[in-house]
Amino acid sequence: MYELNEKLKSLKPYVPAEAEGMIRLDANESFLPLPDGVLEEVQKALGQVEFNRYPDPAAKELCKAFAEYYGVPAECVAAGNGSDELITVLFSGFLQKGEAYATIEPDFSMYTLNGFVQEARHVALQKTADFRLDIDKLIETCNNEEVRLLIFSNPCNPTSVVCPREEVRRLVRGVNALVVLDEAYMDFSDQSLLPEVQEHENLVILRTCSKAIGMAALRLGFAVARKELINAVRAVKSPYNVNTVSQLLGTAVLRRKTDLEKAKKQLLYGQRELVSKLRQIGKRYPGRFRLLPGETNFAALTLADGEALCRFLWEQGIAVRYTGGLLRVTCGRAEENKAFCTAFERYLQK
Ligand SMILES: *Cc1c(COP(=O)(O)O)cnc(C)c1O
Repeated sequence: MYELNEKLKSLKPYVPAEAEGMIRLDANESFLPLPDGVLEEVQKALGQVEFNRYPDPAAKELCKAFAEYYGVPAECVAAGNGSDELITVLFSGFLQKGEAYATIEPDFSMYTLNGFVQEARHVALQKTADFRLDIDKLIETCNNEEVRLLIFSNPCNPTSVVCPREEVRRLVRGVNALVVLDEAYMDFSDQSLLPEVQEHENLVILRTCSKAIGMAALRLGFAVARKELINAVRAVKSPYNVNTVSQLLGTAVLRRKTDLEKAKKQLLYGQRELVSKLRQIGKRYPGRFRLLPGETNFAALTLADGEALCRFLWEQGIAVRYTGGLLRVTCGRAEENKAFCTAFERYLQK
């Protein structure tokens, strides 16, 4: 009889919340639809797609549109089926058997899943008590442990805290490892290292269209690095990883600079409103929770009874995420945020 190996036996599929009909503040998606007219615009191109043919393996037009929107050279960009796929590609290509990778906990759980599946050695570095990065200590441990790949998100999911660009730069320069800097939320902040990506020989930046760009359904992510690294990414990824429909729609949306900037403003405005509501609630219930200073499209809270609160909200039809000891609330539409705040306050009153 065939038996699963020990590694697979211990794994469980990622099951997102069964949130049909619920207020969904659990996955950090954008609450906005695609820009007006984009679907109509690509309709003609979609009609001409040869669906019997494989997609463009280099996703040239898509990478060009991304490069132009973010002001980086197109030769420094590779596209992925979501940045999740690119994380897998980087772990499988840039780590050899037995080598060590490091994360800075708490952080995005996909990193350790990939490390586990690759059978790499995990060096779990820790954030400081206030969820910041102690750069000198991180450099020292990475180099002592002979870490070959260091991966972290900035701004961080789940803490929402952003690490200033100078510190990230110092970390990249200080370690001997490849640094995978996951900037999934950097559209909501201004500390990106994209403008200087080519100056760092050991840096790969990940970006995604699933958050600020509002296309989680299409699965589009990007890796940006100096040309030699990107060529290695292109060589190790599966050739037809991004389907033709996603390439077409992604290209059309990324060309809509004005629409994207407007959407980003709306998302940021919503975030500020949510945060200010939470601050007011915090004043009414001193000591019950702490709101972390964030630059993302979600709010991160520390509180003693996060799990119970999560369950309470769930019963009220509101899905949020409790992860890494933090309650993570995605900014939704105004009425959704209001429903969350009302239910949250009802919980605090109990
Ligand atoms: C959401 C998220 C991603 C996943 O992005 P996809 O492009 O949708 O795969 C990657 N990293 C972090 C930190 C995220 O929060």
